[in-house]
Amino acid sequence: MTNQPNGQISLSDSDNDRLIVWFDIDNTLYSASSNISHAMGTRIHAYFVNLGLSHEEASELHLKYYTQYGLALRGLTRHHDVDPLDFDRKCDGSLPLEDMISYDPELRKLFEDIDRSKVWIWGLTNAYRLHAERVLRILKLDDLFDGLVYCDYNVKDFVCKPEQEYYAMALRQANVKDVSKCYFVDDNRKNVDAARALGWHHCVHFCEKGLEAMEGGKIKAIDDAREPGAPDNDVVDVSTLHDLRKVWPEIFKTL
Ligand SMILES: [Mg+2]
Repeated sequence: MTNQPNGQISLSDSDNDRLIVWFDIDNTLYSASSNISHAMGTRIHAYFVNLGLSHEEASELHLKYYTQYGLALRGLTRHHDVDPLDFDRKCDGSLPLEDMISYDPELRKLFEDIDRSKVWIWGLTNAYRLHAERVLRILKLDDLFDGLVYCDYNVKDFVCKPEQEYYAMALRQANVKDVSKCYFVDDNRKNVDAARALGWHHCVHFCEKGLEAMEGGKIKAIDDAREPGAPDNDVVDVSTLHDLRKVWPEIFKTL
């Protein structure tokens, strides 16, 4: 294992027999009941309106870009010459996260119980690095992550989940050659299905049925319903990360 100039840790070939668990961050490491997705959605809407769009046009385009690209900002950089770092400052960067989520000792214990002698823990987020690191710091999980794959807003036409190239980038960054070693949990079923279709073996959908979250500027009830024609894969739904102990017992320390 070596430290890279960008602060990421990369695995040497001898480390490659380790398993790797990829955690999505937003609405996965904390509950959708925090309403962070609503606060993000409101800020993104305001950003569209500030580009000179009416509220109606803003809502329409926000949803369109989210659906088409997996992330509203991907459409904004592609079609409106928006500076992603300005967007990040005004949207994610202005969220009062410290008032919305807090340290959960049981969640930290869950991470501490993962057997680090055979498992790497990485973040896999569609946010920019600053937001992801801030969330991990508030939750007091930052020291338990070996690396973080994020949307690099400094790269023109940066990639995001569920694009195949994003997962390929993640494997390159973590130096993972064997996707059968990959474990992945995300609250967005499309992101999970995309990983599963690429052969990531152990995929879990974090699904807080009955709560609401904002996606593409629209409030949606969280459910485990599938899109028509969605592949019948063996993705497991969990409503709490603590269920990972049952679904993936092999990644935890044995007492
Ligand atoms: Mg998420």
